[in-house]
Amino acid sequence: MKKNKVLFFLIFFLFFIKTYPNLITDIFYLPIDIPNRRVLKKSYITQKGEFGIWRKSYKNIRSHYHTGIDFKNPGKKVGQIEPVFSSGIGIVKSVIKNGPSSCVIIEHTLRNNKKLYSVYLHIMDITVNINDTVSEKSIIGTFIDHTKLDKWGEYLNHLHFEMLKVPPKFIGFEKNDSLFYPYSIDIRSKSELFEKYYDPTIFFLKEE
Ligand SMILES: [Zn+2]
Repeated sequence: MKKNKVLFFLIFFLFFIKTYPNLITDIFYLPIDIPNRRVLKKSYITQKGEFGIWRKSYKNIRSHYHTGIDFKNPGKKVGQIEPVFSSGIGIVKSVIKNGPSSCVIIEHTLRNNKKLYSVYLHIMDITVNINDTVSEKSIIGTFIDHTKLDKWGEYLNHLHFEMLKVPPKFIGFEKNDSLFYPYSIDIRSKSELFEKYYDPTIFFLKEE
């Protein structure tokens, strides 16, 4: 009888873990430091920072569809260090530290068991490593500071944020880590855009 009880609890426990692993989430938060991170206001987005707009060629970058949304730096003071947060519970999939192209990708598991990848581009002082578990409270890096903006260009004073439907592309190894990058400048048709990307605004509540 006792044995059965133990077995029963063991099975129950395993079922519980399988059904409710604590890394599963359907709730996402804005990755910037504002009072209510569930509510997306239009004023948070840069003038040409909307999802799905056509971006003309610029410097060495071919024209492409904008695969994410661009958040303004919400900081008030010039030179203030402005944190970038994970948009929710997940595991750090890739970290690339490469000047203005620095990028963090976080893998999230949804309740329907599908994967979703949040992407953070144009950040610096990255504080997370590959395979770290993060939540919406985790700071993963900062907006690019003014010293670096002077060097790289003021237009980089925004956070490019994406929600990828498909795994990011493998671009090589660093030590033993696999590195991945999003398709941010590769998308030249609407069908490819919607095959690979969610409109990130659908994950938040809206306010004009
Ligand atoms: Zn962007």
